[in-house]
Amino acid sequence: MSTNVTLQPFGALLVLDAECRELQAYSDNAFSLLTPALNPSGVASPACLLGKRLSQRVRLELNGHQRLPGPLAFTRHCQGKSERFQLFAYRHAEHVIVEVEPLNPLGKRRLIGTVNERLMRLAEATHQEDLLEMLVNAIQALTGHDRVSVCHFDSDWHGLVVAEAMGGSLAPLLGQRFPASDFPISLRRSYERQSVRLIQDVEAMPVPLKEASGGYPSADAAIRESLLRAPASSRQRYLQRMGVRGSLSIAMHGDTGLWGIVVCHSAAAHPVPPAVRDAVRTLVHMATQRLLLLRARQEARYLQRVQDSLGLAEAMRDEPRGPHALLAAQAETWLALFRAHGVMLWLPDAVHSVGHTPAVGAIHQLVERLNTAHPHRGPWCTREVSQDPLTAQLDMPQQSGVLAIPLPMSRHQRAWLMFFRPEQTETLYWAMQPTSMLTPTLSASDSRSTAWQEEVVGKSEAWQRVERLAAMDLGEDLTLAIAAYEISTLNQHLEQERKALADANQRLEQLAHFDPLTQVWNRYRIEQAIAAELVAAKRYGTCFALLLFDIDDFKQINDTYGHTLGDDVLVSMARRIEASLRGCDHLGRWGGEEFIVLATHSELSAAVGLAERLRELVTMLNVDGLDKTVTISVGVAVWQPEDSAKTMVTRADSAMYQAKHGGRNRVEVAR
Ligand code: GH3
Ligand code: MG
Ligand code: MG
Repeated sequence: MSTNVTLQPFGALLVLDAECRELQAYSDNAFSLLTPALNPSGVASPACLLGKRLSQRVRLELNGHQRLPGPLAFTRHCQGKSERFQLFAYRHAEHVIVEVEPLNPLGKRRLIGTVNERLMRLAEATHQEDLLEMLVNAIQALTGHDRVSVCHFDSDWHGLVVAEAMGGSLAPLLGQRFPASDFPISLRRSYERQSVRLIQDVEAMPVPLKEASGGYPSADAAIRESLLRAPASSRQRYLQRMGVRGSLSIAMHGDTGLWGIVVCHSAAAHPVPPAVRDAVRTLVHMATQRLLLLRARQEARYLQRVQDSLGLAEAMRDEPRGPHALLAAQAETWLALFRAHGVMLWLPDAVHSVGHTPAVGAIHQLVERLNTAHPHRGPWCTREVSQDPLTAQLDMPQQSGVLAIPLPMSRHQRAWLMFFRPEQTETLYWAMQPTSMLTPTLSASDSRSTAWQEEVVGKSEAWQRVERLAAMDLGEDLTLAIAAYEISTLNQHLEQERKALADANQRLEQLAHFDPLTQVWNRYRIEQAIAAELVAAKRYGTCFALLLFDIDDFKQINDTYGHTLGDDVLVSMARRIEASLRGCDHLGRWGGEEFIVLATHSELSAAVGLAERLRELVTMLNVDGLDKTVTISVGVAVWQPEDSAKTMVTRADSAMYQAKHGGRNRVEVAR
C-alpha cells in the first residue's frame, strides 16, 4: 500500500524496525534499483534487498548509535553487470532509515586534492568579499551548476545575494533581494536539521513510499531528515518560476542562527554525487568558520575604535570634562562610527546635541516613554520612527532611525545618549515582485528573472548588533565620565564653600577680638590676655606689667581738627605703638582714646623704660593735617601677688590720673 509520502528517484529509501530485522516501508524504486530480478511481493526482510552481509553490518554498526559513522559502499552484480552503491543509515524514533544511492565512477582522489587546495585558499582570505568569491567559484568548479550564489539573511530574514559564480544560462542574481516569505520558518528549521538539500530534478516523477507487510504509520515525520525527500509542490513551483530544474543548497550556520545559504541552480536536471556533496559541505563549513572569524575580528576592531573615541582613561586622569565638552569633542567621531547624522545627550537638567536632532520637546516625550517602556540596561532602537509605537506620535520629521542608550545617573534617574539616522536612500532590487511569488498562477516564462525595484520608504539603515554592543560600551564609559566630572565639580564647590567658611570664621574672629577702627585688640581680648597672664604669673611667679595711657587734651584735637582727624590720630598712634612692641607684648584699645599695653616678663624698671619709650614715640607722631604734637599720659602697674585684673587696671588708672595731674605727657608708677 502506498503512503502519501514521496521521494526523489535518484536513490532508494528503506524504513526498518529498530532491530533492522524487518522491512516496514520502502520507496517504490527500491527493488528495481537494488534487485531488479526479485519480485517484491511478499518480501518482508531487509536481507532480501541489501543482502545478508550488508544488512547484518548495518545492524551491528548502528547498535547503540544514532547514525552510521560514515557511508558504506557496496557493489551489486546483476545479470552480468556490476553496480556500485552508497548506503547511509540513521535512527528516527523507533525506526531505522536507510538511504541508498548509486555511485557514479568518479576520480575521488582528484576531488580530495582539489578540495584541499581550495580549503587552503579559503583559510587565507582576509576579507569577506574575497572569501565568498572564492567559495562560490570553488563550488561552481566542483558541481558545475549554472549559477552558484550566496544569499545572506538580514535581521528580518530577507535574503541578499552577496556573491555569485556563473557557469551557464541562468540570469545572475548578484545584488538582488529575496523577501523573507521565500524562507519560511519551516524551511529554515529544515536547514538546521539537515544543512544540505539536493533537488536533482524538479520535474522528476516522485516515487511513492510503500508500506511493507508490517505497516508503517508515521512515514511523514521519519523522512523529514532524508536527503531523498521530494520537494513540496510550493517549492517546486517556486523553482520552476525561477527557471531552475536542478538545485543544491547548503546552510551557513552563524553563531546566532542561520547566516545564509549557498544556492546552486541549474536550468537542467543536475545530479550531485555524494562525494561532491560532501566536498561542497566541507567547503561551506570551513568558509563559514572563516567568515565568523573575520567578522569577529572586524567587530572587535570596531568596538575598540568606539572605546578609544572617548579616551576615558586620559579624560579621567587629566581634568574631567563636562558632558557638553565631551559631546562637542567627540560628536564628529561618533557620528561617523555610528553612521548617524545627529547625536544628543539628554540629561535630567540639560540637553546637548550635535547635527540633525529632533526638537527638545519631542525628545522629552520620548525619554518619558522610554523610562516606562524600556526599564532595561540595554540600548533601545528603531529603524522606522513613523511605525514604532514609542515614536509614531512624536514630531521627528528628519528622523527614521533612533538608537537610545540609557546612562544610569542614580538609582532613580537616567540620562540618555541618542543617535539619529535619516531615511535610507537606497533602492532594493528584489529577485521578483514579492506579491507575485505567492501566486502560483503565473507561468514560469512571464516572471522568470523579472527583477523588481523597491524604493525604501521611511526606514533608516538597520542598527547592527555590533553597533548596539558598541553603544552599550560607549554608554558605560560616558556614564563614568559624567560621574567623574560631577565628582570633580562637587569637589570644586566643596573647596569654595570651605574657603568661604574659613573667611567667615576669620571675619568673625576679627569682629570678636579686634577694634574695628584701629585694628588692635579690643577690650574683651585684652581682658582675656590679662587674665591668662595673671594665671601664669600666679603659677610660675613670672612678673608682668600693665601700661594704661590716655591721649592728652584729645577733646581739643577733635574740636579743632574734627572727629575724622581725631580718628586718624587714634589709628596712626595705635599702628606706631604696635609696630614698636616686642612679639610678646600686646596693645589693646581700652575705650575712647585710652589704651593698654600688656608687657609680659617685665619687672618695674623694664616697664617704666617701655612706658617712657612709648611716650616719646607718640610725641614724634606725624598725622596729616595736624600741626600739633600728640602726647600721652601713662600709668604703670607692675604685678603684685595679691592682684586681680580689676585691681591691676584700677592701679594703672590711678597712676595715669596722677600723670595727668602731674602735667600730662609723663609716666607715673602705681603704688
Ligand atoms: P585729658 O587730657 O584730660 O584726657 O583731656 P581730654 O580732652 O582728652 O579729655 P577726655 O579724655 O575726657 O576726652 C575724651 C574725648 O575723646 C571725648 C570723646 O569725644 C573723644 N573720643 C572718644 N572716642 C573717640 C573716637 O573714637 N574718635 C574720636 N575722634 N574721638 C573720640
Ligand atoms: Mg580719656
Ligand atoms: Mg584724654
